Amino acid sequence: MPEAKNSKNPMKKNGKMGSNIRMVAFWLLVVLLGVTALASFATPASDVSEEKDLTEILAYARAEKLDEIIVRGNELLVTPREDAELPKMVSMKDPAGTLQEQGFGEVINEGKVRVRIEEPVNLWESILDIAIYVVPVILILLFFAYMMRQAQSMNNQSMGFGKAKARLYGNEKKRVTFKDVAGNEAAKQDLAEIVDFLKKPKKYEALGAKIPRGVLLAGDPGTGKTLMARAVAGEAGVPFFSISGSEFAEMFVGVGASRVRDLFGKAKKNAPSIIFIDEIDAVAHKRDARGGAGREDEQTLNQILVEMDGFDNESGVIVVAATNRVDMLDKALLRPGRFDRHVNVTLPERKDRVAILKVHFKDKPTESDVNLDALAAKTAGSSGADLANIANEAAITAARGGRKIITNADVTEAFERVAIGPERKSKVMNEEERKITAYHEAGHAVVGHVLPDSDPVHKVTIIPRGRTGGVTWFLPPEDRSYKNIYELKDVLARAMGGREAEKIVFGPDGVTTGASSDLKHVSELAREMVTEEGMGNKLRNQVFNTSEVNFFGDRAKAYSEKTAETIDVEIESLAKEATMRAEAVLKANKKFLDELARQLLEKETLEEKEVAAVLKGAALPVVAKLHR
Ligand code: ADP
Ligand code: ZN
Ligand code: MG
Repeated sequence: MPEAKNSKNPMKKNGKMGSNIRMVAFWLLVVLLGVTALASFATPASDVSEEKDLTEILAYARAEKLDEIIVRGNELLVTPREDAELPKMVSMKDPAGTLQEQGFGEVINEGKVRVRIEEPVNLWESILDIAIYVVPVILILLFFAYMMRQAQSMNNQSMGFGKAKARLYGNEKKRVTFKDVAGNEAAKQDLAEIVDFLKKPKKYEALGAKIPRGVLLAGDPGTGKTLMARAVAGEAGVPFFSISGSEFAEMFVGVGASRVRDLFGKAKKNAPSIIFIDEIDAVAHKRDARGGAGREDEQTLNQILVEMDGFDNESGVIVVAATNRVDMLDKALLRPGRFDRHVNVTLPERKDRVAILKVHFKDKPTESDVNLDALAAKTAGSSGADLANIANEAAITAARGGRKIITNADVTEAFERVAIGPERKSKVMNEEERKITAYHEAGHAVVGHVLPDSDPVHKVTIIPRGRTGGVTWFLPPEDRSYKNIYELKDVLARAMGGREAEKIVFGPDGVTTGASSDLKHVSELAREMVTEEGMGNKLRNQVFNTSEVNFFGDRAKAYSEKTAETIDVEIESLAKEATMRAEAVLKANKKFLDELARQLLEKETLEEKEVAAVLKGAALPVVAKLHR
């Protein structure tokens, strides 16, 4: 496969109730039921059950030494006044009748003993009776335990439900300042100005300038928005209260709004101060974007708006928010007086990438052959987070190899690991697989090398990494944001080069599943060209909007079925053309293909210069040329 991207795995928070709580609840239930059941058995007494002469009992009753006689089913329970050696429980048929017969009537009438008739106890009935009272209590207890846990995990320390955790940055051991943020000069300047507002409000007021209330940091994930906000805190020297939108998303009804109130209350009390709401899109997505869902988010969002509207010019609180998705934000947030200042944080350009790499390699011992400029050149499109990741991986790789200093090989390994996934040293391919992979990758390389508008081949390898069998890298000579139709068509053709090489060498039935990601890439890119870039073979300069999401959450087609068919035909036409060109190039240059595959099998990895040496003299056949 040609270009490789690292897959992002956002860490999902685990909202599952801990098994600890469930264990506790279970034992609580067992103990409660056990205790109550025992208690119900133990009425007056149950330890003795020997049968004794009723006359003896009667004698005691006459002497007024009995407190009470209880008749319960077939049992007679006796409670003596002071402990006579009396049985406490006697079993017999029809105890009430027996008492009558035995002449108890007289003593009872004289008031010398009381007799009470009780319903016989049914174990299950009594358990049910108890359960009716106990179960709801347990459920309520469980619910509270669960809430407490939630609240704790949101806070990392227990606090009231409605209390926002005031994370005060700037006092930590490792204070972040603008020095730690490389590149993004424009954004840093904007933020420095905000800091100045807070420090010297008089200067601005004297000139009649309105102090901004809300600043929105917008940009791709990993571009350093959170880092920059922390740097603001480090620079400002004013209290900095921070909370993340995703934390709100986990809260119970009403809690989000009350947290916002609490957060703003604290900030005002400590003014001048800064509130930072990270990932604000988590609460402030367009109200209709989720089909009217998220009442709780809406309450939270409304509360934020209410609080911001309540600021007066002297409140001295500035709200900074960050988002990866400005397009998803509720428009109400962007109105004047709210987040009306926008700071765009962009993916780093080459010189910024060098600067970021320098920041992250600063405290790491590196060999003199480590070339950060070259690494920056290879990492077009990477975010600051990706680069930080490479630096870290390089250190780990060196440590794993038992080295004290990071070598260039460690850096290269780290770069490839971050971009594609770790090398699968353990999985050995059999000879057949290796041969197929070698031809497949050689196919990509030959087509890419020969086509006039393709980026040069940077490296070819048949060492498996991540889920891919091998990789062919193409690297643009410099950063470019735009590609023209010829370049894109060459991308399509070189992507087909892998499978076409397999076909030519092993026959039409010899193709493998190794090309599936290439095919996917081709159909996605072809679709994008036709529907979004107006780059079809016939459909030109027209775009077909497929990104509107309709009421049902489906992508709405803003075009007819007939156009849809035409689009499919166009995509097919691009894919066919690419296949045809790849095939033509490979057939015309079969001996170069063979030689490259042979060298790959021998060396496993070939660098840019080696590839160029092997393919010297390979030529573009006329049929693969595009009409311009
Ligand atoms: P975002 O909030 O935009 O998704 P982060 O601020 O969380 O990105 O960035 C993640 C990490 O990437 C930072 O902690 C830092 O190590 C690194 N990073 C990102 N941008 C830069 C930069 N401009 N300079 C230095 N390091 C950066
Ligand atoms: Zn491939
Ligand atoms: Mg962030």
